[in-house]
Amino acid sequence: MNAESSSESGIHPLRVEFRSAELELAFQRHHLGHSRTSLRLTLFFCSTFYLAFAMTDVAALGYGHVAMMLFVGRTLVAITAILGWFLIREHPEPIAGLWFVASAAEVVGMATFMLIVWNRPHEIAWHAMSLCIMLIVVYLFIPNRLVIAQGIAIATTVVFILIALEKGNLTPSDALTMSMLLLLANSFGLVAARRYHRLWRDEYRVLIDLKHLSVRDHLTGCYNRRHLHETLLPMEVARARRHKHWLTLVVCDVDHFKSINDAYGHQTGDAVLQHIATVLRALTRRHVDSTVRYGGEEFLLVLSQTDLDSALHVAERLRATIAGSPTNDGPGRSIATTASFGVLAVDFSVAGEDVTEGSLIAAADALLYEAKASGRNSIRCRQWSDESAGKGANSLPLAIFDSAASDRDPRHADWADAP
Ligand code: GH3
Ligand code: MG
Ligand code: MG
Repeated sequence: MNAESSSESGIHPLRVEFRSAELELAFQRHHLGHSRTSLRLTLFFCSTFYLAFAMTDVAALGYGHVAMMLFVGRTLVAITAILGWFLIREHPEPIAGLWFVASAAEVVGMATFMLIVWNRPHEIAWHAMSLCIMLIVVYLFIPNRLVIAQGIAIATTVVFILIALEKGNLTPSDALTMSMLLLLANSFGLVAARRYHRLWRDEYRVLIDLKHLSVRDHLTGCYNRRHLHETLLPMEVARARRHKHWLTLVVCDVDHFKSINDAYGHQTGDAVLQHIATVLRALTRRHVDSTVRYGGEEFLLVLSQTDLDSALHVAERLRATIAGSPTNDGPGRSIATTASFGVLAVDFSVAGEDVTEGSLIAAADALLYEAKASGRNSIRCRQWSDESAGKGANSLPLAIFDSAASDRDPRHADWADAP
């Protein structure tokens, strides 16, 4: 994981949620399938047992209007569970909906329980045991935010103790034992729930660390070539084709990089690569464009929804920034570098079906080769056309735009600085 994401991945000690709202939301999304399954299962079990326990009302109170009223309350719990079940099945998003269903079931369930306790005060010890089990269910089995679960559990415990003191006819020692028992259930429930919440988030953090490692280049933090070929480029091409958008590939290669290695050593060469990667990433759109380390000192940018003119502006900004910002390598030592660029823009509203990822990269590479041949620190560009592609990537015209016409107009491809 890079420094930016690791600083955001701290867990709040009280809420036991990621401090970063963005990361917490990503975690909740990742966990959504598990949360929904566990909520459905718990709602089913709880409402079944709530209804089944109606027979204890009849046993304690006989058939009568109080037992009937309690049955209505128990049915209400089942109805809340069923409504919640449908709600999360039909609307998996937003995630707050899941918390709402969980909280509603908990509140209705606990309120009904209090009604039962109020009307059956002679079995207060049994009720205290039942509440201990219910507290564990609230803390551990119903997926909810810890702060909400904790609030509902503590509020229920307090109300229960008040009812027990009022109606339970308890001796002081019974009241003390019962209160200690409920305190114990809350404490164990809370400790276990905190562990679960932390464990799930730690697991998620490891998962995103691994994902990051598998798609990024270790030295520069750019995407690696495997990610480009397996995911990034197929996805971008498919999206551009589907929406008939532009897509531009920019190949960037550091000029005479070998001589930097030879003159200053490999470590300094690495620092230059890191500096160039930083420039490339800083000057392109975050979350929209992608920067890939394609080879040793060669980078490939994938610019979504970017036509030739806009891509040329981007490439020129990159070229000028790289040429104008030497790498600082220790006190008093800065290493000047330049880079050459091949820019290939594809208009997918007109491009044929046979545009392949390989042919796009080959065409962009051919343009880079031209930029190198023209003296380096320059840009060569063209728009993809199926006619030239039909002749094969290697037979692309060497320069679509005349290099002699370089006057910093975006329509002119060669922006090489005078050597
Ligand atoms: P040109 O302008 O034609 O691109 O010349 P060049 O010297 O940049 O290209 P060439 O392909 O001759 O040399 C590339 C060098 O990049 C050779 C290789 O040792 C070096 N290189 C590749 N990967 C790394 C790396 O990770 N770190 C360092 N320091 N050097 C690397
Ligand atoms: Mg090079
Ligand atoms: Mg190279």
